[in-house]
Amino acid sequence: ELYEHNAVVRNYHGHKDIPRKVAENVRKMTTLDHRLNGPRHTLKELQKQMNATAADKSEIIAQMRELRAGVSTLEDQREKLDAETRAMALSLPNLTSSETPTDGEPRLRTYINYDPESPPKYSNSADHSVIGERLGILDFSSASVASGWGFYYLLKEAALLEQALVQYALSVAMKHGWSVVAPPSLVYSHVAVACGFQPRDQNDEQQIWQVAQPAKDAGKPTRSLAATAEISLAGMHAGKSLPENQLPVKLVGSSRCFRAEAGARGVDTKGLYRVHEFTKVEMFAWTDCPAPTGGLPEESSWVQSSTQVFDEMVGIQVEILSSLGLPCRILEMPSSDLGASAYRKIDIEAMFPSRKKRDGGWGEVTSASICTDYQSRKLDTRILEMSGSKKKFAHTVNGTAMAIPRVLAAVLENGWREEDGCVIIPEVLRAYMGGMEKIGPR
Ligand code: AMP
Repeated sequence: ELYEHNAVVRNYHGHKDIPRKVAENVRKMTTLDHRLNGPRHTLKELQKQMNATAADKSEIIAQMRELRAGVSTLEDQREKLDAETRAMALSLPNLTSSETPTDGEPRLRTYINYDPESPPKYSNSADHSVIGERLGILDFSSASVASGWGFYYLLKEAALLEQALVQYALSVAMKHGWSVVAPPSLVYSHVAVACGFQPRDQNDEQQIWQVAQPAKDAGKPTRSLAATAEISLAGMHAGKSLPENQLPVKLVGSSRCFRAEAGARGVDTKGLYRVHEFTKVEMFAWTDCPAPTGGLPEESSWVQSSTQVFDEMVGIQVEILSSLGLPCRILEMPSSDLGASAYRKIDIEAMFPSRKKRDGGWGEVTSASICTDYQSRKLDTRILEMSGSKKKFAHTVNGTAMAIPRVLAAVLENGWREEDGCVIIPEVLRAYMGGMEKIGPR
């Protein structure tokens, strides 16, 4: 029932019977395993006889040949079933929180620095790319020659602003007990898949950049450029057990993120809003989860620990964005927007005056998700219980602390003063920029 309901709210009606098919395949594989046991055992015994006898071995050899052919046929069948089952299981998204709207529309939770009764009046609505080029701090045209569409050079104050935003986000997260990590940018493709990032989406559009293997690694697992530090941080504890008394484990890392954005061609082609490469500070946590005893436990207890960390993450996002003075709104995202891995998602959108004609100016700047055990099952990240050796899967929670290009764009647009052609730097960033208060024309 739970899966049928989920199939409807997650819009995978066509695959409604996947759980049944998976269960059927698992049964078939178990039967094959039993059928394989006998001939494999006999093969071992015959091998021993072969080794021990000096007499004519032709009969044993013929017997072994026949048995091997049978074993190989069964193994092929099992391998096919295994691949089919894995593919079907991967196409199943996570379950869905009861907090999540199922009508396809985000639910507004609240605003930050914004009163809908008297919205701020923008005398100007200059686009950040125009502001940046006028101030000589953003260069898209050189980047289009060096790297193509979707790349940019941050110059002078914009480059400093990026560092300031990173430092500021790290400092807020650290203040709340998050431990800093500098993660790798290349990850194994199977780790990305385990986190819910398919190299190609349902429209067969390339979503993550896969890198060509060097000749020396031919035949080895392929690598991709990490679309987000969520992947490299999640991979940090793959195949490990985290001691129960050390949970939650809370990490924050700054990394470069690489997005193919193939499906997004044609939208947001100007400026920093949608680019192929950017810096992002990401929070990632592993939390406790009650062991399922015969089906799922009550939802409230199942996600109690992950919800606690999730609320803390959203609190950090709110603290950062409100202190930057950006008008924002907080949205509980609908089931149609959860992707494969999220069970619940909250996005925060900031006001981009230049985008007033589109979505009323609101544009996503952060995202936070509870992934329950979706990622940890695939990565085999478990909890080592203090009481004994029983191990259950951890829950994972991820969220943006600072996505540089969009926040930088929002800072430029919201801080822009037409009258003197300056951008006011938010107060909390000034300490990281040598006390600089504004970026003015040269
Ligand atoms: P995601 O990891 O896709 O949830 O994205 C996290 C945040 O990164 C979003 O809220 C955006 O602020 C930012 N972001 C995502 N994709 C891009 C992109 N292609 N260009 C610039 N910023 C992006």
